Amino acid sequence: MSSLLSRQARSATTSAIRDLLEHAQRPGMISLAGGLPDPARFPVEELATIAERVLRDDGRRVLQYGLTAGERDLRDHIVATTAAAASAEEVVITTGSQQGLRLLAHVLIDPGDRVVVADPEYLGATQAFAQAGGLPVAFPTDADGLDVDAVETALTDGLRPKFVYLVPHFHNPTGATLAAERRRRLFELADRYGFMVLLDDPYRELYIGANAPDEDDPHPMAVHLRSTSKVLAPGLRIGWLIGPAWLTTAVERSKQAVDLHTSTVAQAIVLAALRADWFPPHLDELRAATGEKRDALCRALDDALGERISFTRPGGGMFVWAALEGVDTTTLLAPALERGVAFVPGGAFAIHRDLADHLRLSWATASPDELSEAVSRLAAALDDL
Ligand code: PMP
Repeated sequence: MSSLLSRQARSATTSAIRDLLEHAQRPGMISLAGGLPDPARFPVEELATIAERVLRDDGRRVLQYGLTAGERDLRDHIVATTAAAASAEEVVITTGSQQGLRLLAHVLIDPGDRVVVADPEYLGATQAFAQAGGLPVAFPTDADGLDVDAVETALTDGLRPKFVYLVPHFHNPTGATLAAERRRRLFELADRYGFMVLLDDPYRELYIGANAPDEDDPHPMAVHLRSTSKVLAPGLRIGWLIGPAWLTTAVERSKQAVDLHTSTVAQAIVLAALRADWFPPHLDELRAATGEKRDALCRALDDALGERISFTRPGGGMFVWAALEGVDTTTLLAPALERGVAFVPGGAFAIHRDLADHLRLSWATASPDELSEAVSRLAAALDDL
């Protein structure tokens, strides 16, 4: 009966990473595969206290249906704390930033429209765009992020995309941050050629040391996607998008048909957490742990694999994007899983490029000791090949 499925559903592919994660949950496995935040760092006690208070003090309100755009007090808080948001009308609370991507794809893309992405790119985004009928036009990236020169050349040659999608800080999977000069030029191009720039920024708070991102200036062609998944807990499923009112109005209409609104209880919990005294020190601890784990992973890679591996040390986030010259990392995966370490082969993120010798390693979930053990296992798996 699957012939009853719509054309769109029949052509939809499943994310290679979500499938892989099932294997990565075997006992004893150290997973460098998923971008799962470390559960040891979830502020469980603090959130339990808040949840109890929110329900006891304000239960009759937060258990009721809410506004599609999201609770007004949370949107006001976002406007007060985010330079890119000028008014609550420019903010829509979404069920994770992933829903923001889906909604934006739905309201911006007609089947056959071009959308610019990086190669490699975050799978959840390319999946959302493809399901709306968008055709990805992918450009290479380097340590400074998307190759904006290459985008400009394509625009000069006639490319007219609906939007350019970007993970501006600590990109998934490459870990790269878009250089300020490239970003400035990209917005000039957006003004000239009339496309939107989607800045999907869930890792911006996870900077290490002096790599704090600059505040985003408001720009009429910009849409910002933010998330509490990496700084509080992904299970809350709270994110938001900030964009011009013509766009947020369309997003709101689309969201009405998807889920009426994002959980009002979760929104109330998140607002109280963002305002809590413990939140800034919690962020500081997360950043310190991020630095410690990045260093542990990079050190282990240097020590155990030396010349065999090449990678750039990211300034934050969760991921090291590495190349093992001459190794097909999809073939490496089986012996690696056998030895108890999981990673994502680079090809999973490729759009047009051949990235078969790359792999994405996440330091997010494992402890520093586990990270170094995982790299020893990876080195042993390489020897098995
Ligand atoms: N964008 C990027 C770049 C991501 O890496 C992720 C999660 N891995 C998301 C969006 C979705 O995050 P969420 O829906 O939990 O906010």
